[in-house]
Amino acid sequence: MPLLSWLAGGTDERPDAIRVDDRAVSWVELRRLAAAVADELRGVDRVAIEATATLETVVGVVGALTAGAAVVPVPPDAGPMERDHILRDSRATALLVPAGAERTAEDTGRAVVPVDLGRRSDTVHPEPDPASTAVILYTSGTTGAPKGAVISRRAVAACLDGLADAWAWTPDDLLVHGLPLFHVHGLVLGVLGPLRLGGRLHHVGRPRPERYAAAKGSMYFGVPTVWSRIAADPDAARALRPARLLVSGSAALPAAVFADLATLTGHRPVERYGMTETLITVSARADGPRRPGTVGLPLPGVRTRLVDENGATLPADGAAMGELQVDGPTLFDGYLNRPDADAASRTPDGWFRTGDVATVDPDGWHRIVGRASTDLIKSGGYRIGAGEVEDALLAHPGVREAAVVGTPHPDLGQQVTAYVVGDGVDGAELIDFVARHLSAHKRPREVRLVDALPRNALGKVQKTRLTAD
Ligand code: ATP
Ligand code: MG
Repeated sequence: MPLLSWLAGGTDERPDAIRVDDRAVSWVELRRLAAAVADELRGVDRVAIEATATLETVVGVVGALTAGAAVVPVPPDAGPMERDHILRDSRATALLVPAGAERTAEDTGRAVVPVDLGRRSDTVHPEPDPASTAVILYTSGTTGAPKGAVISRRAVAACLDGLADAWAWTPDDLLVHGLPLFHVHGLVLGVLGPLRLGGRLHHVGRPRPERYAAAKGSMYFGVPTVWSRIAADPDAARALRPARLLVSGSAALPAAVFADLATLTGHRPVERYGMTETLITVSARADGPRRPGTVGLPLPGVRTRLVDENGATLPADGAAMGELQVDGPTLFDGYLNRPDADAASRTPDGWFRTGDVATVDPDGWHRIVGRASTDLIKSGGYRIGAGEVEDALLAHPGVREAAVVGTPHPDLGQQVTAYVVGDGVDGAELIDFVARHLSAHKRPREVRLVDALPRNALGKVQKTRLTAD
């Protein structure tokens, strides 16, 4: 089915189908606004868009997809170097900006196309080839420079259909979130999801607990930092009781936040796992159980396997830790201009190497231990997952945030080192605390108290920046 089939055929004139902050449009209006943008983009192969959390961004993205142009979102807070990298690397020839802001984009040397919410068109654009590129998304840059992932219309459609099945997502749903619109989470799931599946969308602008609470959605998306703020605001959390589904992703949801949310909202959150290159591949289901610390089961059509350092398949016994590899219809087409990264990312039989370490229970439930590069600590012959130690630290009442890494140690190879943001805690006390909760070899050898952890736009901790200095 074409990517935006529901939007193309929908006759719904409810004025608030798509709301971003305090402005909303109906489905029919959105289609006409997008057609006017598409009229301007004829012959454009790749178009960048200033991806602010605004209705103009939604209209611009839908306009580009209607025209069959690949969308390259530029983070609105990107510094000049990052912005320049994305524009050059993607070779976007046009740039969409909100009407009135054309001058700010003049220096980019690209054709500037305004998104004007006063302009509508009734042109019916032909349906683009499903194998063509829908979006070029830059990875979060957690482990290195962001890489441009080329994602086809077909992959986006397959991912959204898998999620519709897993989350029982229907046109009756009102999705609420406040995610940035330049990653898979906010853009592909959070905008194209409701557009493909017909459900309504309310983007609250900024992901503040009180805005989530006031929006009265049936389904809510958030990253763990947002869920943790909501869990710390009982009134906001209780306002989510009437919802149907709370979904967390982009990073691991701490067990303590899972438990607080379950108590306050009455909902055990659904966790799901994915990445820019593969879209979402594993999730808990709306009609099934949810287990804290796990990310669920492979989505329809997705295959996963665990392999050791030599490429040998490991058993799904809940204990063996290995690299998670995935295959299926949601995989990207490759990185832009990075043949090195491309070659390194695939196995000889075509599976994608996620670079994440996981375990799989005998009944198929996946647990993400962390990234092979930063979250799997090899200390004195043991393999220790950073997340387990982080969860143990977070169980201490004085610990607000924790990030655990392996740092060089003369005898052990690596030692467990914890960075902690806390209230009146001391290192020795925390080391003792972890030793009482986990096996002794997992306790940190060193605790470094810091004011804040380095995080990116999705709230992911940038561990390579912690160890860089
Ligand atoms: P880069 O690839 O540039 O270093 P990145 O990997 O953070 O950045 P993304 O593609 O946005 O860029 O993030 C995907 C990663 O996020 C996954 O590989 C995984 O490490 C992490 N992740 C996503 N969802 C979850 C989850 N539910 N639990 C744990 N980790 C998750
Ligand atoms: Mg990555």
